[in-house]
Amino acid sequence: MTLLAIASGFVAGFFLWGFGEYALHRFAMHDLKGKGLMSREHLEHHVHASWSFSKMHLLSWAGMLLVGFVAWMPLGWAIVGSAFGLSVAVGWSLGYFFYEYNHAAAHLWAPRGRYTRWLRKHHFHHHFGHPQANHGVSWPLWDVVFGTIDRPARVRVPRRLVVPWLVDPDGELKPEFCDDYVLVGSATSDDRLASLDRARAFASVAPAD
Ligand SMILES: [Zn+2]
Ligand SMILES: [Zn+2]
Repeated sequence: MTLLAIASGFVAGFFLWGFGEYALHRFAMHDLKGKGLMSREHLEHHVHASWSFSKMHLLSWAGMLLVGFVAWMPLGWAIVGSAFGLSVAVGWSLGYFFYEYNHAAAHLWAPRGRYTRWLRKHHFHHHFGHPQANHGVSWPLWDVVFGTIDRPARVRVPRRLVVPWLVDPDGELKPEFCDDYVLVGSATSDDRLASLDRARAFASVAPAD
């Protein structure tokens, strides 16, 4: 019985995070248009489309662990029992770290298999094609449920915002990615384009070419 409680709690926690990933990204980050720390930090991420470690990550890890162990664990404990409650919190936290890792990896490293190829295409279309679609990052379930899934044949990527692994040293798209991506616009930016990128990111509109 305990093993069943642990396994089902873990799956429930992992699913709960999947919904959290979608709902937080859509409603607490994009719909708030920069109001509040979480929304502002995320829309800043859209301005440059780059990823680097910052203290903000520690803050959000702490926040998500807190939600898992202070909200979900007692709830699961009260409804089903201690083993279930604890494993819901563990499943939630691992779901969050799975998302964090895969999101960072998408921005930093080339795909290495079917899942990582899908994830990058899905997420970069959210960045560069349609920021109101594809709110799930590590899985598409809730985009399908809420009708926000978008699957373009090829993802347009403005050259000035390109993720480094997509291009060769001359800035041209590597041949192995030509089926999935197309580069648009100029590689350089100026003050006008930089402020336009910022305004469009904060309005959840795709960057101009
Ligand atoms: Zn991203
Ligand atoms: Zn976003």
